[in-house]
Amino acid sequence: MTAKILDGNVLSTRLREALRIRTSELTVQGCQPGLAVILVGSDPASQVYVRNKIKACETVGLLSEKYEYPADTRPEVVFHRIAALNNDPSIHGILVQLPLPPQFDADAVLAAISPEKDVDGFHAENVGALMQGQPHFIPCTPYGVMQMLKSENVNLRGAEAVIVGRSNIVGKPMAMLLLGASATVTVCHSQTRDLALHTRRADVLVAAVGRAKMITGDMIKPGATVIDVGINRQADGKLCGDVDFETAKEVAGLITPVPGGVGPMTITMLLTNAIEAAERTIGK
Ligand code: NDP
Repeated sequence: MTAKILDGNVLSTRLREALRIRTSELTVQGCQPGLAVILVGSDPASQVYVRNKIKACETVGLLSEKYEYPADTRPEVVFHRIAALNNDPSIHGILVQLPLPPQFDADAVLAAISPEKDVDGFHAENVGALMQGQPHFIPCTPYGVMQMLKSENVNLRGAEAVIVGRSNIVGKPMAMLLLGASATVTVCHSQTRDLALHTRRADVLVAAVGRAKMITGDMIKPGATVIDVGINRQADGKLCGDVDFETAKEVAGLITPVPGGVGPMTITMLLTNAIEAAERTIGK
């Protein structure tokens, strides 16, 4: 069997059409959505991510502001900027690109962002709201995964969902969302004893580890939906996921590619959150 490809670029293009309309409606009402992105240091991957986010803002008519600081910046400088952005009515979303240099306490930085402008959904208040099943902002990557599953009408009720990875930004919120959709959720991590035992049971398998091609076809249940969140750069410079696409696509029913899968959807959901934040300010 050869799996159907779940193309994140195609779905993103469709969703961004609708976002463009929402943005222009807001702009007509004098409330053009605005996103501020803070980047500290010169991590090449972070620079690419920020560039892509800013470019995506332009495509749907969002105002974007980029604040770039050198790696040796004192944390006070960034806290001061966040405080100013919290009080700026033209900015509806604030994003601090992670990771931050070692002199920063990332949790403290995220806590400084107003929860109403926390479009990444990483503020403790927003994490708690998600945990309670009343999310205010859903973290963009798991939000994008849920939209991909929805677009293909993947049945989650009672499904065995297995997530590999338990990070705060992907694995844990992914678990909450799948649980909210009534899947039976297993979360695996580096201490999991027999990973394949779990992955082979999965109707829906989400890989979010950061290890190139670690999930091979023999670890996948025939017909399963396989979502590959991982982004890994190979020796030849090309990107690949955590799933070995070539062997996995012969077993899975539905599979996301890397690149062109979850990546573009993450950015689309960031735009969605920023637009929603702006809509809330005018009571829409
Ligand atoms: P983290 O490094 O924060 O978390 C990785 C997780 O994988 C940890 O929970 C770790 O377990 C687990 N893990 C490590 N080794 C193994 C193993 N051998 N078996 C099982 N689990 C293991 O990564 P992130 O969650 O931030 O990101 C994961 C991947 O997704 C990365 O490749 C990242 O680049 C990508 N990513 C992609 C995005 C997109 O838009 N497509 C967005 C965000 C991330 P433990 O907790 O025990 O250490």
